[in-house]
Amino acid sequence: MTELKEILDLTTDIADKEKKLIERAYSFALHAHDGQKRASGEPYFNHVSETAKILAKFGMDAQTVAAGLLHDVLEDSNTTEEKLRNEFGENILFLVNGVTKLGTLKYHGHERHVESLRKFFVAITNDLRVVIIKFADRLHNLRTLQYLREDKRKRIAIESIEVYAPLANRLGMGKLKGELEDEAFPYAYPKEYEQIEKILEGREETYKKNLEEVSTELENALIKNKVNIYEVNYRVKHKYSLWRKLLRYDMDIDKIYDIVALRVVVKTIEDCYKVLGIVHSIWRPMPGRIKDYIAIPKPNGYRSIHTTIFTGSGGAVEIQIRTEEMHEEAAYGIAAHFAYKTEKEKKKNKEEEQSKFKWIEELKDFNYDLENPQKYLEHLKMDFFNDRIFVFTPKGDVIDLPDGSSPIDFAYNIHSDIGEHVSGVKINRKIAPIFSALKNSDIVEIITKKDAHPSGKWLDHSKTNLAKKNIRSYLEKNSLLSKLKSFGRS
Ligand code: MN
Repeated sequence: MTELKEILDLTTDIADKEKKLIERAYSFALHAHDGQKRASGEPYFNHVSETAKILAKFGMDAQTVAAGLLHDVLEDSNTTEEKLRNEFGENILFLVNGVTKLGTLKYHGHERHVESLRKFFVAITNDLRVVIIKFADRLHNLRTLQYLREDKRKRIAIESIEVYAPLANRLGMGKLKGELEDEAFPYAYPKEYEQIEKILEGREETYKKNLEEVSTELENALIKNKVNIYEVNYRVKHKYSLWRKLLRYDMDIDKIYDIVALRVVVKTIEDCYKVLGIVHSIWRPMPGRIKDYIAIPKPNGYRSIHTTIFTGSGGAVEIQIRTEEMHEEAAYGIAAHFAYKTEKEKKKNKEEEQSKFKWIEELKDFNYDLENPQKYLEHLKMDFFNDRIFVFTPKGDVIDLPDGSSPIDFAYNIHSDIGEHVSGVKINRKIAPIFSALKNSDIVEIITKKDAHPSGKWLDHSKTNLAKKNIRSYLEKNSLLSKLKSFGRS
C-alpha cells in the first residue's frame, strides 16, 4: 500500500473526506486488475496507479484521481458499467467511459489522426477532465514504450506528437506538451533524435557557465533592489522543440538563444517589470527579442516577459520573468484552473473556459466528412495548429484568428450579431474594405448597420468555420424566406 500513500501524499489540497474516494478506487482497481500483466512484465495495476500519480501531480481533484485509477477497468477487466456506477456513481462512470471511448481508435493514417482529434474536441467540451486523464494515461504509456513492438511503438509515438502534444499546447499545458514530445521523440524520429543529441554534446558546460555567471549577478542585484524573489531557476529547452526550431534556422545551433533560459519568479506583476528594468540596466538586451506576454498573452494563455541579453563574455542568455501564478499556469494550463475548486468555482471556470476555448466548439461543430478526412485535416491544420494572427479590438482585447482572416471573421468571432450586420471596417483607424486580409497586430473596429446583411460573396472572404457556418445558415434561412414570400404572393 505504499503506492496509495504516494498518491495521497501528492494530493495535499484534497480534503480527507474526499481522499476516501481515492482509497476506494485504489482497492477496486487493484482487485479488478489482479493477475494482469503489462508488456513489460510488471503488474497491470502499476500503470493505473502511475496514471493516478501524474494526475495528482497536476493537482487534479479527487474524482479525477480516482477515475485515473479506474480508467482501464471497463476495457481491461470484467467490471461492468453497472457495477462501476453502483460503486462510484454517475460522475466517475462518465469519466471512465469518456477515457475508454477516446482509447478505441482503429483507423489508419490521416483518418485515424483526424478521428482522434475530433473525439478529443468532443470530449473537451463535455468534460475536460476526460482529456486530462487521457493525457496522463498516454504519458505513462510513452514512458514504458520500449516494451512494445516496433511498429506499434512508432505509431503511438507519432500520434502523441501529432495529436496529443498540440492539444496539450493549445490548452496551455506547456509542461505536459514538452514531456509528451520528449518521451515520444526517440521512437518517432530516431535519426533526428540522435542528431540533436550529437549537436548538444559538449555544449552543456558552456551553457551552464553562462547561466551561473548571469544568475549570481542578477540575484545580487535583485536583493540589493529589494525585489521579493520567489524562485530563480533555469530550464533547458525540450529536445523535440529544439529540433523543430533548428529546422527553421538551417540547423545552426548558434542562431538559437533559448536553449537554456533563466527563470525569475517573483510575487507581483509590478515586480516583473522591475526585474526587467534591473536586467536591462546590467546587460544589453538583444534587439527584437524583448517579448511582453504579460501585456499581450499568447492565445493559449501563456504569460511571461522574455528578454535575451548579451552576457559580456561573448554569450547570450534568455531571461523569463513571471509571477508564481503565471509559472503554475505555464506548466499546467487549463488544469491549473481546474484543480481544487468548489462546485461553484468549477461552474465559473467552465464558463471562462468556454469563452477562452471558443475554437474547440468551433472545431467540434465543423461538419465532419468521413469520406474526406484529408480535407478535414487540411482545415484543422490551417485553422487550429499554425499560422495564427493576433489582432486587437479598439479596447485592446486580443482576438486570435487564422492567418488570412478578414474583418468578417473578426466580427463573427466577437459576436454573431455583429457578424450579421457588418457594413464597414476601420483597420488601424482607417476605413478599409470589409474583405481586407488582416495582419498581425492590426486594430480592428467593425461598423455595423441594421440593414447590412451577409451575401454569398462573404463566404469567399471568410476563413474561419465560425463565420462560414453563420453566413451559410443566414443565407439558407433567407433564401427560404424569400421563396416563401414569393410563394405567398403568387
Ligand atoms: Mn491506460
